Amino acid sequence: MLTGLLYCGSCGNRLCYSHNTTHRKLADGTEKVYDRNLYRCYRRISSPTTCSGPSGYEMDPINEAVEVAVKDFLRRISVIPREDLIALAGIREVRNAEVTHKQAVKDFEEAQRQINVLEEEAMKALTGENKLDLGIVNNMIMKQKARLDAAAKAMEESKARLDAEKNQKRSNEIQVDEILTWASRFEDASYEAKHMVIAELVDRIEVKKDYEITIYWRMTADQFLGKRTEASA
Ligand SMILES: [Zn+2]
Repeated sequence: MLTGLLYCGSCGNRLCYSHNTTHRKLADGTEKVYDRNLYRCYRRISSPTTCSGPSGYEMDPINEAVEVAVKDFLRRISVIPREDLIALAGIREVRNAEVTHKQAVKDFEEAQRQINVLEEEAMKALTGENKLDLGIVNNMIMKQKARLDAAAKAMEESKARLDAEKNQKRSNEIQVDEILTWASRFEDASYEAKHMVIAELVDRIEVKKDYEITIYWRMTADQFLGKRTEASA
């Protein structure tokens, strides 16, 4: 269920699922088959000096501990109003980007307006309508144009950031709706569906000696809950 998400907390290697079958002859002559599902650190197995963790963990306790943590996460999420969740997932960033972009547009317009004024003055100096030194006016126009270029660049950048934040907000809304749907269905979900949900919520799970489990949540999840959760099997 957790393949691809599990890492050895000792060496950082990915843990791999492994199925072991052992046949054992009992005293009465019959044979008994033992099935074991394990997550193994192949680094520990192939080069024991580079990993100090166990070579394998029983699958079931780890799966159960992670399932409990995910269930708990979904339960805590589902009592928060949807709008608050979306806000938590990044509405503040959109507002900040809007303010920055508005200011950048204003700066650009102001720089443009000043160039227009200077160019008018330069024209008047040419026709003798005023007595300004054309060299000085031209110099000022040059400087103002450099400011205009900088303002145009800043405006472009703030627009790009605003668009990115808006897209992010839309995807946050979709993600929040998904998470709320999962919250209502996780309990009865199939094995595959649970794996899918866990993979969407969790970035990485580290397992250490004595089944000490640390769950690192993905972006949206950690905005609701914080970056890591300690669980125990
Ligand atoms: Zn290891």
